[in-house]
Amino acid sequence: MTEVIATNETILVVGGGISGMTAALEAAETGKRVVLVEKRAYLGGRVSQLYKYFPKLCFPTCGLEINQRRAKMNPNLDIVTMAEVTNIEGEAGNYKATVTIAPRYVNENCTGCGDCGKAVEAEFDDEYNYGMGKRRGAYLPYRMAHPQRYVLDPRIIGTDDAQKAKDACKYDAVDLDMQEEQITIPCGAVIFATGWQPYDANKIQPYGYDRIANVITNVEFERMSDPSGPTGGKIRRPSDGKEAKNVAFIQCAGSRDRNYLLHCSRICCMASLKQTTYVADAYGDDADISIYYIDIRAIDRFEDFYQKVRANKNVKFIKSKVANVVENRENGNPVLHGVDTEGYKRYASEHDLVVLATGMEPSIDKDKFPVDIVINQEGFIEPAPENGGIFAAGGASDALDVNRAVQHATGAALRAIQVVNRVAAQEG
Ligand SMILES: Cc1cc2nc3c(=O)[nH]c(=O)nc-3n(C[C@H](O)[C@H](O)[C@H](O)COP(=O)(O)OP(=O)(O)OC[C@H]3O[C@@H](n4cnc5c(N)ncnc54)[C@H](O)[C@@H]3O)c2cc1C
Ligand code: SF4
Ligand code: SF4
Repeated sequence: MTEVIATNETILVVGGGISGMTAALEAAETGKRVVLVEKRAYLGGRVSQLYKYFPKLCFPTCGLEINQRRAKMNPNLDIVTMAEVTNIEGEAGNYKATVTIAPRYVNENCTGCGDCGKAVEAEFDDEYNYGMGKRRGAYLPYRMAHPQRYVLDPRIIGTDDAQKAKDACKYDAVDLDMQEEQITIPCGAVIFATGWQPYDANKIQPYGYDRIANVITNVEFERMSDPSGPTGGKIRRPSDGKEAKNVAFIQCAGSRDRNYLLHCSRICCMASLKQTTYVADAYGDDADISIYYIDIRAIDRFEDFYQKVRANKNVKFIKSKVANVVENRENGNPVLHGVDTEGYKRYASEHDLVVLATGMEPSIDKDKFPVDIVINQEGFIEPAPENGGIFAAGGASDALDVNRAVQHATGAALRAIQVVNRVAAQEG
Protein backbone atom coordinates (compact mmCIF):
# COMPACT_ATOMS: atom_id res chain seq x y z
CA MET A 1 0.00 0.00 0.00
CA THR A 2 1.37 3.39 -0.99
CA GLU A 3 1.70 5.75 1.97
CA VAL A 4 2.42 9.46 1.95
CA ILE A 5 2.67 11.93 4.81
CA ALA A 6 0.20 14.74 4.14
CA THR A 7 -2.01 17.25 5.96
CA ASN A 8 -3.81 20.39 4.86
CA GLU A 9 -0.43 22.17 5.15
CA THR A 10 0.94 19.93 2.39
CA ILE A 11 1.52 21.09 -1.20
CA LEU A 12 0.46 18.63 -3.88
CA VAL A 13 2.36 18.87 -7.17
CA VAL A 14 0.78 17.10 -10.13
CA GLY A 15 3.30 16.21 -12.85
CA GLY A 16 6.99 15.45 -12.37
CA GLY A 17 8.58 17.06 -15.44
CA ILE A 18 11.20 19.77 -15.04
CA SER A 19 8.49 22.24 -13.85
CA GLY A 20 6.93 19.87 -11.32
CA MET A 21 10.33 18.80 -10.00
CA THR A 22 11.34 22.44 -9.64
CA ALA A 23 8.14 23.49 -7.87
CA ALA A 24 8.27 20.46 -5.56
CA LEU A 25 11.94 20.90 -4.68
CA GLU A 26 11.79 24.66 -4.18
CA ALA A 27 8.84 24.23 -1.79
CA ALA A 28 10.30 21.18 0.00
CA GLU A 29 13.63 22.95 0.48
CA THR A 30 11.89 25.75 2.39
CA GLY A 31 10.69 23.06 4.81
CA LYS A 32 7.19 22.52 3.40
CA ARG A 33 5.75 19.05 3.11
CA VAL A 34 5.27 18.17 -0.58
CA VAL A 35 3.76 15.22 -2.43
CA LEU A 36 4.72 14.91 -6.11
CA VAL A 37 2.44 12.75 -8.25
CA GLU A 38 3.68 11.66 -11.69
CA LYS A 39 1.77 9.70 -14.31
CA ARG A 40 4.81 8.09 -15.92
CA ALA A 41 7.03 5.49 -14.23
CA TYR A 42 9.80 8.09 -13.86
CA LEU A 43 10.43 11.81 -13.34
CA GLY A 44 11.77 14.26 -15.91
CA GLY A 45 8.86 14.53 -18.34
CA ARG A 46 9.50 15.53 -21.92
CA VAL A 47 12.90 17.14 -21.39
CA SER A 48 14.22 13.67 -20.59
CA GLN A 49 13.41 12.85 -24.24
CA LEU A 50 15.41 15.76 -25.70
CA TYR A 51 18.92 15.18 -27.04
CA LYS A 52 20.29 18.68 -26.38
CA TYR A 53 19.04 22.00 -25.02
CA PHE A 54 19.07 25.22 -26.97
CA PRO A 55 20.74 27.66 -26.84
CA LYS A 56 23.82 26.18 -25.13
CA LEU A 57 23.51 22.74 -26.74
CA CYS A 58 24.18 21.06 -23.42
CA PHE A 59 22.52 17.80 -22.38
CA PRO A 60 19.26 17.83 -20.36
CA THR A 61 20.53 14.85 -18.37
CA CYS A 62 22.81 17.18 -16.44
CA GLY A 63 20.05 19.37 -14.95
CA LEU A 64 17.80 16.37 -14.40
CA GLU A 65 20.50 14.55 -12.48
CA ILE A 66 20.95 17.52 -10.14
CA ASN A 67 17.21 17.60 -9.46
CA GLN A 68 17.09 13.84 -8.93
CA ARG A 69 19.86 14.15 -6.36
CA ARG A 70 18.03 17.02 -4.61
CA ALA A 71 14.86 14.88 -4.55
CA LYS A 72 16.64 11.85 -3.06
CA MET A 73 18.11 13.95 -0.28
CA ASN A 74 14.94 15.76 0.77
CA PRO A 75 12.94 14.19 3.61
CA ASN A 76 10.00 16.60 3.06
CA LEU A 77 9.18 15.16 -0.35
CA ASP A 78 7.11 12.07 -1.18
CA ILE A 79 7.18 10.98 -4.84
CA VAL A 80 4.44 8.77 -6.23
CA THR A 81 4.96 7.56 -9.82
CA MET A 82 2.53 5.83 -12.20
CA ALA A 83 -0.15 7.88 -10.51
CA GLU A 84 -2.83 10.30 -11.68
CA VAL A 85 -4.98 12.76 -9.79
CA THR A 86 -8.52 11.88 -10.78
CA ASN A 87 -10.48 14.27 -8.59
CA ILE A 88 -9.91 17.27 -6.33
CA GLU A 89 -12.50 18.62 -3.90
CA GLY A 90 -12.43 21.42 -1.35
CA GLU A 91 -11.05 24.91 -1.14
CA ALA A 92 -7.76 26.73 -0.63
CA GLY A 93 -6.20 25.41 2.57
CA ASN A 94 -8.37 22.32 2.62
CA TYR A 95 -8.35 20.12 -0.48
CA LYS A 96 -8.69 16.39 -0.84
CA ALA A 97 -7.18 14.82 -3.94
CA THR A 98 -8.04 11.35 -5.16
CA VAL A 99 -5.04 9.64 -6.73
CA THR A 100 -5.16 6.42 -8.75
CA ILE A 101 -1.89 4.47 -8.81
CA ALA A 102 -1.24 1.87 -11.51
CA PRO A 103 0.66 -1.29 -10.51
CA ARG A 104 4.36 -1.38 -11.47
CA TYR A 105 4.62 -5.07 -10.50
CA VAL A 106 8.12 -4.31 -9.19
CA ASN A 107 8.82 -3.26 -5.60
CA GLU A 108 11.57 -1.24 -3.85
CA ASN A 109 13.91 -4.26 -3.75
CA CYS A 110 14.71 -3.69 -7.42
CA THR A 111 18.40 -3.04 -8.03
CA GLY A 112 17.94 -2.35 -11.74
CA CYS A 113 20.06 -5.41 -12.60
CA GLY A 114 18.01 -6.03 -15.77
CA ASP A 115 17.71 -9.82 -15.46
CA CYS A 116 13.89 -9.71 -15.77
CA GLY A 117 14.21 -7.71 -19.01
CA LYS A 118 16.47 -10.41 -20.49
CA ALA A 119 14.13 -13.20 -19.41
CA VAL A 120 10.92 -11.98 -21.06
CA GLU A 121 10.27 -12.35 -24.77
CA ALA A 122 7.34 -10.04 -25.56
CA GLU A 123 8.22 -6.69 -27.11
CA PHE A 124 6.13 -3.52 -27.42
CA ASP A 125 6.46 -0.15 -29.10
CA ASP A 126 8.78 1.99 -27.01
CA GLU A 127 6.75 5.04 -25.91
CA TYR A 128 9.88 6.80 -24.63
CA ASN A 129 11.11 6.82 -28.26
CA TYR A 130 7.67 7.80 -29.59
CA GLY A 131 7.15 4.29 -30.97
CA MET A 132 10.38 4.27 -33.03
CA GLY A 133 11.84 0.98 -31.84
CA LYS A 134 10.76 -1.66 -29.36
CA ARG A 135 11.29 -2.41 -25.71
CA ARG A 136 10.82 -5.59 -23.69
CA GLY A 137 7.76 -6.39 -21.54
CA ALA A 138 9.97 -5.88 -18.44
CA TYR A 139 11.90 -2.66 -18.87
CA LEU A 140 13.62 0.39 -17.47
CA PRO A 141 11.89 3.30 -19.28
CA TYR A 142 15.23 4.93 -20.04
CA ARG A 143 18.84 4.74 -18.93
CA MET A 144 18.70 7.52 -16.32
CA ALA A 145 15.13 6.92 -15.13
CA HIS A 146 14.41 8.01 -11.57
CA PRO A 147 13.45 5.90 -9.73
CA GLN A 148 15.89 3.35 -11.21
CA ARG A 149 13.27 0.65 -10.98
CA TYR A 150 12.04 -1.72 -13.66
CA VAL A 151 8.40 -1.89 -14.77
CA LEU A 152 6.39 -4.87 -15.98
CA ASP A 153 4.10 -4.04 -18.87
CA PRO A 154 0.52 -4.91 -17.78
CA ARG A 155 0.10 -6.74 -21.12
CA ILE A 156 2.44 -9.54 -19.95
CA ILE A 157 0.60 -10.12 -16.66
CA GLY A 158 -1.03 -13.55 -16.75
CA THR A 159 1.35 -14.78 -19.49
CA ASP A 160 4.43 -17.04 -19.22
CA ASP A 161 6.59 -13.94 -19.55
CA ALA A 162 5.38 -12.59 -16.20
CA GLN A 163 6.46 -15.79 -14.46
CA LYS A 164 9.79 -15.73 -16.33
CA ALA A 165 10.41 -12.21 -15.03
CA LYS A 166 9.61 -13.30 -11.49
CA ASP A 167 11.81 -16.39 -11.71
CA ALA A 168 14.72 -14.35 -13.08
CA CYS A 169 14.70 -11.89 -10.17
CA LYS A 170 17.19 -12.74 -7.40
CA TYR A 171 15.94 -9.93 -5.15
CA ASP A 172 12.28 -10.85 -4.77
CA ALA A 173 11.40 -7.56 -6.46
CA VAL A 174 8.77 -8.81 -8.91
CA ASP A 175 5.31 -8.78 -7.34
CA LEU A 176 2.71 -10.12 -9.75
CA ASP A 177 -0.10 -9.57 -7.22
CA MET A 178 0.19 -5.77 -7.20
CA GLN A 179 -3.17 -4.12 -7.86
CA GLU A 180 -4.33 -0.65 -8.86
CA GLU A 181 -4.70 1.51 -5.75
CA GLN A 182 -6.66 4.60 -4.91
CA ILE A 183 -5.48 6.94 -2.17
CA THR A 184 -6.75 10.27 -0.87
CA ILE A 185 -4.22 13.01 -0.21
CA PRO A 186 -5.17 16.01 1.95
CA CYS A 187 -3.42 19.22 0.91
CA GLY A 188 -3.67 22.99 1.28
CA ALA A 189 -2.50 23.97 -2.22
CA VAL A 190 -2.11 22.23 -5.56
CA ILE A 191 0.34 22.94 -8.37
CA PHE A 192 -0.52 21.57 -11.81
CA ALA A 193 2.72 20.95 -13.68
CA THR A 194 1.18 18.57 -16.18
CA GLY A 195 3.00 20.07 -19.15
CA TRP A 196 2.36 19.57 -22.82
CA GLN A 197 2.06 17.02 -25.57
CA PRO A 198 3.07 17.29 -29.22
CA TYR A 199 0.21 18.28 -31.50
CA ASP A 200 -1.01 15.18 -33.35
CA ALA A 201 0.72 15.34 -36.77
CA ASN A 202 -1.81 12.86 -38.22
CA LYS A 203 -4.34 15.69 -38.18
CA ILE A 204 -2.24 17.84 -40.55
CA GLN A 205 -3.35 15.93 -43.65
CA PRO A 206 -1.56 18.02 -46.34
CA TYR A 207 1.84 17.14 -44.82
CA GLY A 208 1.35 13.37 -45.13
CA TYR A 209 2.76 12.28 -41.76
CA ASP A 210 0.35 9.34 -41.74
CA ARG A 211 1.30 8.25 -45.27
CA ILE A 212 4.91 9.17 -46.00
CA ALA A 213 7.55 7.22 -44.05
CA ASN A 214 10.18 9.95 -44.41
CA VAL A 215 8.03 12.64 -42.83
CA ILE A 216 8.62 12.68 -39.07
CA THR A 217 8.01 15.15 -36.22
CA ASN A 218 10.43 17.32 -34.25
CA VAL A 219 10.04 15.25 -31.07
CA GLU A 220 10.85 12.09 -33.02
CA PHE A 221 13.89 13.84 -34.50
CA GLU A 222 15.16 14.52 -30.95
CA ARG A 223 15.09 10.79 -30.22
CA MET A 224 16.62 9.88 -33.60
CA SER A 225 19.55 12.26 -33.01
CA ASP A 226 20.29 10.98 -29.50
CA PRO A 227 23.08 8.36 -29.37
CA SER A 228 21.01 6.47 -26.79
CA GLY A 229 17.95 6.64 -29.07
CA PRO A 230 16.43 4.09 -31.45
CA THR A 231 18.94 4.63 -34.29
CA GLY A 232 21.98 5.06 -32.03
CA GLY A 233 22.05 8.74 -32.95
CA LYS A 234 22.26 8.12 -36.70
CA ILE A 235 20.09 10.47 -38.77
CA ARG A 236 18.56 7.99 -41.18
CA ARG A 237 15.40 7.66 -43.22
CA PRO A 238 12.75 5.46 -41.62
CA SER A 239 11.80 4.01 -45.06
CA ASP A 240 15.15 2.46 -45.99
CA GLY A 241 17.72 3.37 -43.31
CA LYS A 242 19.67 5.53 -45.81
CA GLU A 243 21.65 8.47 -44.37
CA ALA A 244 19.47 11.59 -44.44
CA LYS A 245 21.78 14.47 -45.37
CA ASN A 246 19.22 16.61 -47.18
CA VAL A 247 16.77 17.49 -44.41
CA ALA A 248 13.87 19.98 -44.54
CA PHE A 249 12.12 21.50 -41.55
CA ILE A 250 8.54 22.71 -41.96
CA GLN A 251 7.79 25.44 -39.42
CA CYS A 252 4.33 26.14 -37.96
CA ALA A 253 3.25 22.58 -38.87
CA GLY A 254 -0.32 22.82 -37.66
CA SER A 255 0.34 25.98 -35.61
CA ARG A 256 -1.06 29.48 -36.05
CA ASP A 257 -3.80 27.91 -38.09
CA ARG A 258 -7.49 27.99 -37.26
CA ASN A 259 -7.87 24.44 -38.63
CA TYR A 260 -5.46 23.02 -36.07
CA LEU A 261 -3.67 24.88 -33.25
CA LEU A 262 -4.42 28.58 -33.05
CA HIS A 263 -1.45 29.59 -30.94
CA CYS A 264 2.26 29.95 -31.70
CA SER A 265 4.18 27.51 -29.50
CA ARG A 266 7.20 29.85 -29.40
CA ILE A 267 9.52 26.86 -29.03
CA CYS A 268 9.37 25.12 -32.39
CA CYS A 269 11.41 27.75 -34.26
CA MET A 270 14.18 27.37 -31.71
CA ALA A 271 13.81 23.59 -31.73
CA SER A 272 14.33 23.47 -35.53
CA LEU A 273 17.28 25.88 -35.38
CA LYS A 274 18.81 23.60 -32.76
CA GLN A 275 18.05 20.50 -34.81
CA THR A 276 19.92 21.92 -37.83
CA THR A 277 23.04 21.59 -35.67
CA TYR A 278 22.33 17.87 -35.22
CA VAL A 279 22.37 17.42 -39.02
CA ALA A 280 25.41 19.70 -39.46
CA ASP A 281 27.31 17.82 -36.74
CA ALA A 282 26.45 14.45 -38.32
CA TYR A 283 27.27 15.26 -41.95
CA GLY A 284 29.53 18.33 -41.90
CA ASP A 285 29.84 19.89 -45.34
CA ASP A 286 27.61 17.21 -46.90
CA ALA A 287 24.66 18.47 -44.86
CA ASP A 288 22.01 20.22 -46.94
CA ILE A 289 19.42 21.75 -44.65
CA SER A 290 16.31 23.80 -45.51
CA ILE A 291 13.96 25.63 -43.16
CA TYR A 292 10.56 26.58 -44.59
CA TYR A 293 9.15 29.30 -42.37
CA ILE A 294 6.58 32.08 -42.10
CA ASP A 295 8.69 34.10 -39.66
CA ILE A 296 11.34 32.94 -37.22
CA ARG A 297 10.45 33.56 -33.59
CA ALA A 298 13.71 33.61 -31.68
CA ILE A 299 13.05 35.91 -28.78
CA ASP A 300 15.43 37.69 -26.38
CA ARG A 301 18.85 36.04 -26.06
CA PHE A 302 17.91 33.43 -28.67
CA GLU A 303 18.53 35.95 -31.48
CA ASP A 304 22.29 35.24 -31.26
CA PHE A 305 21.67 31.53 -31.71
CA TYR A 306 19.45 32.24 -34.73
CA GLN A 307 22.14 34.41 -36.32
CA LYS A 308 24.74 31.68 -35.75
CA VAL A 309 22.56 29.13 -37.57
CA ARG A 310 21.83 31.64 -40.37
CA ALA A 311 25.57 32.06 -40.87
CA ASN A 312 25.95 28.36 -41.70
CA LYS A 313 26.15 28.15 -45.50
CA ASN A 314 24.63 24.66 -45.41
CA VAL A 315 21.37 25.98 -43.97
CA LYS A 316 18.89 27.62 -46.39
CA PHE A 317 15.92 29.65 -45.19
CA ILE A 318 12.88 29.60 -47.48
CA LYS A 319 10.17 32.06 -46.53
CA SER A 320 7.07 30.06 -47.28
CA LYS A 321 4.21 28.20 -45.67
CA VAL A 322 4.47 24.79 -47.31
CA ALA A 323 1.21 23.95 -49.09
CA ASN A 324 1.56 20.18 -49.19
CA VAL A 325 3.96 17.23 -49.23
CA VAL A 326 3.75 14.30 -51.62
CA GLU A 327 5.98 11.25 -51.94
CA ASN A 328 8.23 10.47 -54.87
CA ARG A 329 7.28 6.79 -55.16
CA GLU A 330 10.54 5.89 -56.90
CA ASN A 331 12.91 6.90 -54.11
CA GLY A 332 10.68 7.60 -51.11
CA ASN A 333 11.68 11.27 -51.06
CA PRO A 334 9.11 13.70 -49.71
CA VAL A 335 8.46 16.52 -52.21
CA LEU A 336 7.43 19.90 -50.80
CA HIS A 337 5.15 22.17 -52.80
CA GLY A 338 4.52 25.84 -52.17
CA VAL A 339 5.39 29.39 -53.10
CA ASP A 340 8.56 31.14 -51.97
CA THR A 341 7.19 34.52 -50.89
CA GLU A 342 10.58 36.20 -51.45
CA GLY A 343 10.40 36.35 -55.23
CA TYR A 344 7.03 34.59 -55.55
CA LYS A 345 8.43 31.48 -57.16
CA ARG A 346 6.62 28.15 -57.08
CA TYR A 347 8.75 25.23 -55.89
CA ALA A 348 8.57 21.44 -55.82
CA SER A 349 11.58 20.56 -53.65
CA GLU A 350 12.71 17.04 -52.93
CA HIS A 351 14.43 16.07 -49.66
CA ASP A 352 15.67 12.86 -48.00
CA LEU A 353 13.76 13.55 -44.80
CA VAL A 354 11.18 16.09 -43.62
CA VAL A 355 10.81 17.16 -40.00
CA LEU A 356 7.51 18.74 -39.03
CA ALA A 357 7.94 21.46 -36.40
CA THR A 358 4.73 20.55 -34.60
CA GLY A 359 3.53 22.71 -31.73
CA MET A 360 2.86 22.11 -28.05
CA GLU A 361 -0.65 21.66 -26.67
CA PRO A 362 -1.64 21.12 -23.02
CA SER A 363 -1.36 17.47 -21.95
CA ILE A 364 -4.72 17.45 -20.17
CA ASP A 365 -7.83 17.83 -22.27
CA LYS A 366 -9.81 20.91 -21.23
CA ASP A 367 -12.89 18.80 -20.50
CA LYS A 368 -11.03 16.23 -18.45
CA PHE A 369 -9.55 18.37 -15.72
CA PRO A 370 -9.99 16.73 -12.30
CA VAL A 371 -11.10 20.05 -10.83
CA ASP A 372 -13.08 23.05 -12.01
CA ILE A 373 -10.54 25.83 -12.70
CA VAL A 374 -10.18 28.62 -15.26
CA ILE A 375 -8.65 27.33 -18.48
CA ASN A 376 -8.10 29.49 -21.57
CA GLN A 377 -9.13 28.87 -25.17
CA GLU A 378 -5.91 26.97 -25.91
CA GLY A 379 -6.39 24.72 -22.87
CA PHE A 380 -3.68 26.28 -20.68
CA ILE A 381 -4.42 27.08 -17.02
CA GLU A 382 -5.07 30.77 -16.35
CA PRO A 383 -3.70 32.51 -13.24
CA ALA A 384 -7.24 33.41 -12.05
CA PRO A 385 -8.29 34.32 -8.47
CA GLU A 386 -11.21 31.86 -8.83
CA ASN A 387 -8.66 29.03 -8.86
CA GLY A 388 -8.13 29.52 -5.09
CA GLY A 389 -5.14 27.48 -3.96
CA ILE A 390 -4.61 25.83 -7.34
CA PHE A 391 -1.76 27.08 -9.52
CA ALA A 392 -0.13 26.15 -12.80
CA ALA A 393 3.60 25.66 -13.27
CA GLY A 394 5.57 25.72 -16.52
CA GLY A 395 4.14 24.06 -19.62
CA ALA A 396 0.68 23.67 -18.07
CA SER A 397 0.39 27.48 -18.14
CA ASP A 398 1.73 28.11 -21.66
CA ALA A 399 4.16 26.82 -24.28
CA LEU A 400 7.46 27.66 -22.55
CA ASP A 401 11.12 26.79 -22.92
CA VAL A 402 12.87 25.17 -19.97
CA ASN A 403 14.35 28.36 -18.58
CA ARG A 404 10.96 30.08 -18.52
CA ALA A 405 9.20 26.93 -17.28
CA VAL A 406 11.59 26.69 -14.33
CA GLN A 407 11.15 30.37 -13.44
CA HIS A 408 7.39 30.00 -13.66
CA ALA A 409 7.46 26.87 -11.49
CA THR A 410 9.47 28.69 -8.83
CA GLY A 411 6.81 31.41 -8.79
CA ALA A 412 4.08 28.78 -8.45
CA ALA A 413 5.90 27.23 -5.49
CA LEU A 414 5.96 30.64 -3.80
CA ARG A 415 2.21 31.11 -4.35
CA ALA A 416 1.49 27.66 -2.92
CA ILE A 417 3.72 28.30 0.10
CA GLN A 418 1.77 31.49 0.81
CA VAL A 419 -1.48 29.49 0.90
CA VAL A 420 -0.21 26.79 3.27
CA ASN A 421 1.46 29.41 5.46
CA ARG A 422 -1.94 31.08 5.89
CA VAL A 423 -3.36 27.70 6.96
CA ALA A 424 -0.51 27.24 9.45
CA ALA A 425 -1.04 30.77 10.85
CA GLN A 426 -4.79 30.16 11.31
CA GLU A 427 -4.26 26.80 12.98
CA GLY A 428 -1.30 27.77 15.14
C1 LIG B 1 10.82 19.52 -30.31
C2 LIG B 1 11.02 20.28 -29.03
C3 LIG B 1 12.30 20.54 -28.60
C4 LIG B 1 12.50 21.30 -27.45
N1 LIG B 1 13.78 21.63 -27.11
C5 LIG B 1 13.99 22.48 -26.08
C6 LIG B 1 15.30 22.95 -25.80
O1 LIG B 1 16.26 22.59 -26.48
N2 LIG B 1 15.46 23.87 -24.79
C7 LIG B 1 14.39 24.31 -24.05
O2 LIG B 1 14.58 25.15 -23.16
N3 LIG B 1 13.13 23.83 -24.27
C8 LIG B 1 12.92 22.93 -25.26
N4 LIG B 1 11.65 22.47 -25.51
C9 LIG B 1 10.57 22.82 -24.56
C10 LIG B 1 10.60 21.88 -23.32
O3 LIG B 1 10.32 20.56 -23.75
C11 LIG B 1 9.57 22.36 -22.28
O4 LIG B 1 9.98 23.64 -21.84
C12 LIG B 1 9.49 21.45 -21.05
O5 LIG B 1 9.18 20.13 -21.41
C13 LIG B 1 8.45 21.96 -20.06
O6 LIG B 1 8.47 21.12 -18.94
P1 LIG B 1 7.16 20.81 -18.06
O7 LIG B 1 7.65 20.11 -16.84
O8 LIG B 1 6.39 22.05 -17.89
O9 LIG B 1 6.28 19.83 -18.96
P2 LIG B 1 6.53 18.29 -19.37
O10 LIG B 1 7.93 18.09 -19.79
O11 LIG B 1 5.45 17.99 -20.35
O12 LIG B 1 6.27 17.47 -18.04
C14 LIG B 1 4.97 17.28 -17.54
C15 LIG B 1 4.93 16.05 -16.67
O13 LIG B 1 3.62 15.90 -16.13
C16 LIG B 1 3.20 14.56 -16.24
N5 LIG B 1 1.74 14.53 -16.30
C17 LIG B 1 0.94 14.94 -17.32
N6 LIG B 1 -0.35 14.78 -17.00
C18 LIG B 1 -0.37 14.24 -15.76
C19 LIG B 1 -1.41 13.84 -14.88
N7 LIG B 1 -2.69 13.95 -15.23
N8 LIG B 1 -1.07 13.34 -13.68
C20 LIG B 1 0.23 13.20 -13.31
N9 LIG B 1 1.26 13.56 -14.11
C21 LIG B 1 0.96 14.08 -15.31
C22 LIG B 1 3.85 14.08 -17.54
O14 LIG B 1 3.94 12.66 -17.56
C23 LIG B 1 5.21 14.76 -17.46
O15 LIG B 1 6.16 13.99 -16.75
C24 LIG B 1 11.39 21.73 -26.67
C25 LIG B 1 10.09 21.42 -27.08
C26 LIG B 1 9.90 20.74 -28.28
C27 LIG B 1 8.52 20.52 -28.78
S1 SF4 C 1 12.93 -6.53 -10.92
FE1 SF4 C 1 14.56 -7.91 -10.21
S2 SF4 C 1 15.45 -8.76 -12.06
FE2 SF4 C 1 14.29 -6.96 -12.67
S3 SF4 C 1 15.79 -5.31 -12.65
FE3 SF4 C 1 14.78 -5.31 -10.66
S4 SF4 C 1 16.10 -6.55 -9.36
FE4 SF4 C 1 16.70 -7.01 -11.49
S1 SF4 D 1 7.59 29.04 -32.74
FE1 SF4 D 1 7.95 29.31 -34.92
S2 SF4 D 1 7.34 27.34 -35.82
FE2 SF4 D 1 6.46 27.41 -33.80
S3 SF4 D 1 4.39 28.17 -34.11
FE3 SF4 D 1 5.70 29.93 -33.57
S4 SF4 D 1 6.38 30.77 -35.52
FE4 SF4 D 1 5.57 28.72 -35.93
